[in-house]
Amino acid sequence: MSSIAENLARLQENIAQTLHRCGRTAEDVILVAVTKTHPVETVDEALRLGIRHIGENKVQEALRKIPLLRDPYEGFHFIGHLQSNKINNLLSLKPLLIQSIDSLYIARELNNSLGRKNLTQDILVQVNTTAETTKSGVSFENAAEMVWQIAALPCLRIRGLMTIGLMSIDPERTRPYFSQLRELGEKIEKQGIPGVKMEYLSMGMSDDYLVALEEGSNMLRL
Ligand SMILES: *Cc1c(COP(=O)(O)O)cnc(C)c1O
Repeated sequence: MSSIAENLARLQENIAQTLHRCGRTAEDVILVAVTKTHPVETVDEALRLGIRHIGENKVQEALRKIPLLRDPYEGFHFIGHLQSNKINNLLSLKPLLIQSIDSLYIARELNNSLGRKNLTQDILVQVNTTAETTKSGVSFENAAEMVWQIAALPCLRIRGLMTIGLMSIDPERTRPYFSQLRELGEKIEKQGIPGVKMEYLSMGMSDDYLVALEEGSNMLRL
């Protein structure tokens, strides 16, 4: 087996075991393989091994790689900080989900571009749960308000929330932030904001995905 195949098999086993303990099944969870910095050949190999969703964090890199992929995929996810001058390039790649909407400004710019093209776009709102200054994302306190404001933009459909855990060697330190994000999602869902569906909770990366699953994540990025 190739090392990608081995890694994937181990990952899927870990995910399945954790979900089983939580009374959930693997079908509940979308695995987004973050392909940034990996060459096109590696991405194609992952797709042949059954990966369905891929994620990139830079528009330029995605623009260079995605058109070269030979194997089909179900969804391209954008997970990085989006700059307004890259919006049209990003939309040309037909992202399934833009996970990293981190300001009302970028939401409005995106909505304007989509409007001109007569398109709608599924997005997640990125929340900076850990309040680290190095990270993008709306603050925990302002998140619900921003969801209301973005919900008023006709070309965007909010499908959930995304966060990045602490850069820490101990994933347990991130657990409270994941659980807060889940509670925030539930709180927003209850507000019944028109057009908003808290369907996805995108949290969990290589170092903290098992903790994220235990706290209710249904979208991993690793
Ligand atoms: C790079 C990246 C990931 C994946 O990180 P790993 O530590 O390699 O699992 C997930 N989410 C975002 C937003 C990223 O930029």
